[in-house]
Amino acid sequence: EDVLLRVESLTKSFEMKRGPFKKKERLRAVSDVSLSINKGETYSLVGESGCGKSTTGRLLNQLITPDSGEVWLEKTEISKLSKKQIKPFNRRIQMVFQDPYASLNPRMKVFDILAEPLDVHLNLSKKEKEKMIMEMLEVVGLNEYSAYKYPHEFSGGQRQRIGIARALILKPDLIIADEPVSALDVSIQSQILNLFKELQKEFNLAYLFISHDLSVVEHISDKVAVMYLGKIVESGPKQKVFESPKHPYTKALLSAVPVIGKKGPKKERIVLKGDLPSPVNPPTGCSFHTRCPFVMEICQKKEPFLQSEVNHDHQVACHLTEH
Ligand code: SF4
Ligand code: MG
Repeated sequence: EDVLLRVESLTKSFEMKRGPFKKKERLRAVSDVSLSINKGETYSLVGESGCGKSTTGRLLNQLITPDSGEVWLEKTEISKLSKKQIKPFNRRIQMVFQDPYASLNPRMKVFDILAEPLDVHLNLSKKEKEKMIMEMLEVVGLNEYSAYKYPHEFSGGQRQRIGIARALILKPDLIIADEPVSALDVSIQSQILNLFKELQKEFNLAYLFISHDLSVVEHISDKVAVMYLGKIVESGPKQKVFESPKHPYTKALLSAVPVIGKKGPKKERIVLKGDLPSPVNPPTGCSFHTRCPFVMEICQKKEPFLQSEVNHDHQVACHLTEH
């Protein structure tokens, strides 16, 4: 397998002022996250909002700098490059956002929206540029007249096609898609997911796919990592994680997804007690211990580390499965 992007022990916290006395506190956004994405595959990050999925995506795209840890794009550690050095690498990692309307400049015509990344990264003649833009519109399923319209003249699904075209026009190796279909109607969601799949095949694209929606993740992923309070608690090939989840949090998430038209034993519904704790003061030991139905004494004191369970590619951070 060909590793495209590798992340080692990525950590990021944010300082914030809270309360009537504006006390300075640190919020743990991402803690010790390691993962690797192969060429042409879809790696999904799942979890509740605030679990650090989006921050991880932004760290990988160099939109924010980590406190510690490394990001490697093939043989280059891109996390230690300067702004100038990183420019040619930036081209290879592009982003698609949740709300295509908010991420498209309303005063720019689609032609100019797509021309912008080309102008930043490539030195093309007007003719070459026009050719690439028209080709890209066709690739994402929009007609040539779209080029001369403004974002507000399109539907939500069409706008996301524009967002995808903008990400794709530089021929990246990896697209980081942060909740790319969650703002869309369910009927449109599957069209856009299918477009992602077609483009992946056509261009050998890898995706880091960020979503809170497990049915979307099941549809699109090759590998899945489940995050809780800034940490990966379980990761592995999609089939293993979905069919034999090991972490109590993963089990709880999956037990809440309705199974449609599938045979086999009915899943036991696991209902989590309590709310998601604050990432400002995450619980000691296992961060999940305040909500875990299987909590033991050791869980409050000792942090379980992500380790292989049964197969080397399926990893879990839980004292129950430690060996
Ligand atoms: Fe639950 Fe303990 Fe496992 Fe954490 S380590 S998930 S609290 S059993
Ligand atoms: Mg988010």
